[in-house]
Amino acid sequence: MKEFNINNLVRPNVAGLKPYSSARDEYQSTGSEMVFLDANENPFQTDVNRYPDPQQRNLKAELAKIKSVSTENILLGNGSDEVLDLLFRAFCEPGIDNVITLPPTYGMYKVLANINNIENREVLLNSDFEPKVEEILNSVDQNTKIIFLCSPNNPTGNSFSEENISEILKKFNGLVIIDEAYIDFSAKDSWLNKLEDYQNLVITQTLSKAYGMAGIRLGICYASGEIIEILNKIKPPYNVNELTQSRALNRVLDVQRVNSEISDLLNERDILSEALVQVGFIEKIYPSDANFILLKVDNANKRYEQLIQKGIVIRNRTTQPLCENTLRFTVGTGEENRKLIEALKNIE
Ligand SMILES: *Cc1c(COP(=O)(O)O)cnc(C)c1O
Repeated sequence: MKEFNINNLVRPNVAGLKPYSSARDEYQSTGSEMVFLDANENPFQTDVNRYPDPQQRNLKAELAKIKSVSTENILLGNGSDEVLDLLFRAFCEPGIDNVITLPPTYGMYKVLANINNIENREVLLNSDFEPKVEEILNSVDQNTKIIFLCSPNNPTGNSFSEENISEILKKFNGLVIIDEAYIDFSAKDSWLNKLEDYQNLVITQTLSKAYGMAGIRLGICYASGEIIEILNKIKPPYNVNELTQSRALNRVLDVQRVNSEISDLLNERDILSEALVQVGFIEKIYPSDANFILLKVDNANKRYEQLIQKGIVIRNRTTQPLCENTLRFTVGTGEENRKLIEALKNIE
């Protein structure tokens, strides 16, 4: 295989692109009292009358510190969904290029492929929900730009083996995106500390799950400086708003609270798993590295409806490949989980 070269991957129009230069890009505050008459803002104070920092410097600096990476390795977006869309738009030529995804997995990869008119080659996971590495590599052709690995995987809950992931990273010459939305619940290490070992590694994380901030929309991309530079060229200048930046920073600074919530949820996950064993119609409880549990039941559609009747909403995954008659339960508070167990024990 040829050497990895990011210039062979990026779309030609993106490579030649000059990004929009905003008022806040052209003059950055140096701390001295300046009169800002450059961005056509309303000068009267509303707390948000000024445009936000397009490079989110304060938030990135804090993330860089806690994740031990450089700020040049970080791009922030309006949820991971925007980050993933930017990756498609930077690297995949509509109507020509393709990506590889591994169902059953997060549905957005396929949706984004369709929106961007990119062929989505699906290689199912094996029966242990691990990637079939050989089959994946055999599906690669010269127009394959990205392989999406979701680990821990949604909806199955497992993390992929380190061996399988590193083999794909080593043998594929395009980008390997590891979606680590659930990494904070996992006993396994993030791939972040391998960022310098693989030029083609892209990691996405989010504040939507363990950090408890789904409502503010903050997604994070970690990758080489080269890749981040390309994504920066095409991102909308003010893609992360001021309120999101400040709420995210406060939350990221509150590591202790976040960690204590995570350990509560992990504890609840164990309690829930044990209680589920006693429910007759549950046939299998899949091990989870995330804040949800996938179950195989006798009849998913029926059990889903019964739980709705009892006021509990879960996710029916029965239509997903390899997931016939499965239901996905998010781990809630102790009280919510007790209600769930109570409901499960009382349906026939
Ligand atoms: C929930 C989830 C996300 C989160 O996306 P955001 O846009 O950041 O809220 C990303 N990937 C996976 C696999 C998820 O399950």
